[in-house]
Amino acid sequence: MGSLQQYYKKRKFNISPEPKGNVKKKAGNVFVVQKHAAGNLHYDFRIEFQGVLKSWAVPKQPPLKAGIKRLAIQTEDHPVEYASFKGMIPKGEYGAGKVEIWDKGEYKLLKKTKKAYVVELFGKKMKGIYVLFNLKDKSWFLFKRKKDSKNKKH
Ligand code: MN
Repeated sequence: MGSLQQYYKKRKFNISPEPKGNVKKKAGNVFVVQKHAAGNLHYDFRIEFQGVLKSWAVPKQPPLKAGIKRLAIQTEDHPVEYASFKGMIPKGEYGAGKVEIWDKGEYKLLKKTKKAYVVELFGKKMKGIYVLFNLKDKSWFLFKRKKDSKNKKH
């Protein structure tokens, strides 16, 4: 199970419109990308895993084609309810700024190791197989896999 301790600690739910939510007992398979106009505009990439949304902040638009690698900084787990959140986080609060849903859909977990998630995304923009690869600590790479790479001999 994931944990929402950090998520709760950073927010004041009487001030921020963000959902409090809770860790889900049932498995689910949603993914979402939220465009977040905080101090620095970034894209929050989230996949439902072990009852929470595993989350990464991607400083640039996530790639829609293979061949582009984006740095993705892992952030605190978010509640699954967050996948539907859009709105304005008030000035002075954690993550202050506008949150929009940039893409959303279901996903399929193809492979999970300590260092990587391989997922198939069924979004409106992001479709196909994507890899999240852990470089070091909270630094990951997010990229789209080439269509035929599954069948290639190494
Ligand atoms: Mn964010």
